[in-house]
Amino acid sequence: MVPQTKILLIGIDGLMLQRAIDSGRAKTLARLRNDSFFSDMVVDLPTVSGPSWTTLLTGTTQEVHGVVDNDFRDHRLDSAPDLLSLAGGKFPELKTFAAAGWPPLIDPSDVGPVIATRISDQDAGRHSIFVRDGETNGYETVDVEVAHETVKTIHESGPDLSFVYCCGADEAGHQHGTIEGKYFEAIERIDRLVEMLRQAILNRCEKLNEKWLIVITTDHGHRDEGGHGGDSSQERASFVIAHGVGMPHPSWRANIKPHEIVGEILATL
Ligand SMILES: [Zn+2]
Repeated sequence: MVPQTKILLIGIDGLMLQRAIDSGRAKTLARLRNDSFFSDMVVDLPTVSGPSWTTLLTGTTQEVHGVVDNDFRDHRLDSAPDLLSLAGGKFPELKTFAAAGWPPLIDPSDVGPVIATRISDQDAGRHSIFVRDGETNGYETVDVEVAHETVKTIHESGPDLSFVYCCGADEAGHQHGTIEGKYFEAIERIDRLVEMLRQAILNRCEKLNEKWLIVITTDHGHRDEGGHGGDSSQERASFVIAHGVGMPHPSWRANIKPHEIVGEILATL
């Protein structure tokens, strides 16, 4: 059994999609929003990166994964494997890749990580990770490194299932608010990275006749003044875009919930 479709999941932390599109600074995301499966989503409380990404990436809720904050104390990630691990269990020869600059998602020496390190799969060439520290070095540069490594990996080996993560918009939202200026500059930078990733996939589809699915989501929104964690609809607002390349856009169910995306992705492989 080999997967029929290759999938890239793009996580954009703290992205207020409609505000980004309305600003005119997110041209790629605007095009994908209108030419894909699309659904709004409402994320669970608290609207915090740790629990929300864990839900999105493991397909379980907080009752199962136990992540309630960004410290990951008392987490139960052992009973909530990430989607790359789950997919590797379904297809033993599957190749997976993850690149991220927020250490709890991926860094084996940090809390978590949500994406299991899977040393033996790495040794066997079935899994690879690209770990950066945006908390220390800033996401403006780290997001670029992460996206470029993902493009290189897609180009060279076309993994079956990949996760790539950018956090520059969230960082700018916290520092400057989400009404004007820096938040939208950060979104424009990330939008260009998304376009670069899309192009890398288009190139493979044209050359190799592959089927790809690009999935994009976020973990929470922001308040106008910047910051999140509360229960306002603005902070809870998320979305999912699922865009087929070389294949039709999927028809996932409307009003999909954050913990249901993993199941849809695994069913698409
Ligand atoms: Zn976040």
